[in-house]
Amino acid sequence: MKIAGQVSLDDMPRIAPLLSRATNPQYGDHQTRVVEVRGVRFGGDRCVVIAGPCAVESHEQTLAVAHAVRNAGGDMLRGGAYKPRTSPHDFQGSGLEGLCILSVAREQTGLPVVTEVMDPRMVSEVAKYADMLQVGSRNMQNYPLLAEVGRTHKPVLLKRGMAASLCEWLGAAEYVARQGNLDIVLCERGIKAFPSGEYSRYVLDLNVIPAVQELTFLPIIVDPSHSTGVSAMVEPASRAALEFGSHGLIIEVAAFELGTPLCDAAQAIDKQTLERIVQFARARAERTEEAIRAAA
Ligand code: PEP
Ligand code: MN
Repeated sequence: MKIAGQVSLDDMPRIAPLLSRATNPQYGDHQTRVVEVRGVRFGGDRCVVIAGPCAVESHEQTLAVAHAVRNAGGDMLRGGAYKPRTSPHDFQGSGLEGLCILSVAREQTGLPVVTEVMDPRMVSEVAKYADMLQVGSRNMQNYPLLAEVGRTHKPVLLKRGMAASLCEWLGAAEYVARQGNLDIVLCERGIKAFPSGEYSRYVLDLNVIPAVQELTFLPIIVDPSHSTGVSAMVEPASRAALEFGSHGLIIEVAAFELGTPLCDAAQAIDKQTLERIVQFARARAERTEEAIRAAA
């Protein structure tokens, strides 16, 4: 039976010719395209750890977390100035003021900043402040937004839609690439699947990492915070993601001494946990290098 609109992974060279390995033999079977964000390299030898608050709430809170991320050895700062919230009555982010706070945090810590843009009309404004533009799970198939971020030529962090197939995800990435912007990093952030919501927020689909790497040359990172929704699961999920070959992590951290975060408090980790995750990532890279040397 033929069903209209149904696609399979065999269709990827047609759906995403700019990003498929099959149509870009220069990348061979294993090579990853390195995406560079102000000196931070996604898809290189080093696992990239992005960390920061869910939302930019205040100067004090963001600066405290940013310094903690830098002291822990993190590579980049995350933080939403524009937040996609389930209820319009909930905190929506601090907007332009939040973007300015992120700029101050970058100046003080030297960490490049990734922040979410939700509205195509806001892309050029957000791009003035961000080093990398995040397209969130809820907007993965917002095609005008994808084209607009593609036109900025800023690196893009494209989160997987919470109910998106791999075909749909790579098709979305192709909309960015179509504008001449191939600086795209994919991010697995958990999918809605049985039994999501019972003991974790979503189901962390680690199996998708090797599948992505087989189909495309783009780097892929994992968000252990939104995928689990439980702070105690963030550290083991981070380790598991690295074992599956993730090129990096994006993690929510809180400065609990300043109070409970306004969004996603249950999944926020403290500074000490972040330090352990960064140490694991660095030690793992050394182990891998040793193994490569031993095999040579
Ligand atoms: C976020 O990273 O701030 C976020 C809202 O994540 P997601 O789009 O994956 O839900
Ligand atoms: Mn969050």
